[in-house]
Amino acid sequence: MPLSPKKVLERYGLKAQKKLGQHFLINPFTSEQIVEKSGIEPKDIVIEIGAGLGALTIPLSQKAKKVIAIEYDQKLIFVLKEILANHQLKNIEIWQGDALKYDYEKTAHLHKTKIKIIGNLPYHISSPLLFLFLEKRAVIDQATLMLQKEVADRLLAKPGTKDFGILSVLYGLTAKIIPVMNLAPQSFYPPPEVDSQLIKINWKEEIRLEEGFVFFLKHIFSQRRKTVLNALKRLGIKTEKIKQILSDLKIETNTRPEQISPQDYVKLYQNIYSPKNNVL
Ligand code: SAM
Repeated sequence: MPLSPKKVLERYGLKAQKKLGQHFLINPFTSEQIVEKSGIEPKDIVIEIGAGLGALTIPLSQKAKKVIAIEYDQKLIFVLKEILANHQLKNIEIWQGDALKYDYEKTAHLHKTKIKIIGNLPYHISSPLLFLFLEKRAVIDQATLMLQKEVADRLLAKPGTKDFGILSVLYGLTAKIIPVMNLAPQSFYPPPEVDSQLIKINWKEEIRLEEGFVFFLKHIFSQRRKTVLNALKRLGIKTEKIKQILSDLKIETNTRPEQISPQDYVKLYQNIYSPKNNVL
């Protein structure tokens, strides 16, 4: 049985850093299960986000062709290198830095294959990472992510519910999200203040999103309390034009942003801007 994360940190005179979202998986059986559920295969090039003390890195390396373990914290990298050296694993590369700045395309091109992403994410950057993965999905085959439950709820939310937002629209159009397992705070050291959920993201094929469409959604969802009519007026579109388009799409003028389905957002955008290339 390996040492607990608490003991490992103590041994190196370290403390978990809240500001870096450090909540380490305690039970090796849970780590094994996460890796098992990710469906990683021997041909896969895997990028792990936030490797920490290697709870997922080690079981991953036994399944994948190669694991690129991204970790921001220099002090943890020192510990991680010692832990990995004890296991004599040769297919792990450590990359120190911010996962938001990593060059995912370069790695995919270098290995001539799409990459798989896995991570018990640092929760303070889970939303920007989700936007980034969406942008890079041409080179990402699938992603298995531990998220705070409320972010997973947003990805899975249906129109008309309180959790429905921009990520629900974008992921609703582009991906199939599979909820895999829930973990209580006690599964981590130190325990986070929120529940967690592991989800798997598989992209739907051939779906392109225009940058303008994402901007359009960001504008509308920044005004959740307004009606869609008022939110669109603020984009400088004439009231009469908006009313006509909403009526054609059978959307009431007093509808609020969270009540419109992902598919209707596409139609709305296409009707307003008539883009040369369709968003879908
Ligand atoms: N994978 C380990 C586990 O499951 O026990 C650690 C997971 S912990 C929730 C998140 C990890 O992400 C921490 O080790 C933290 O230092 C690291 N981290 C925080 N911000 C990061 C960033 N911007 N880029 C890469 N790693 C980051």
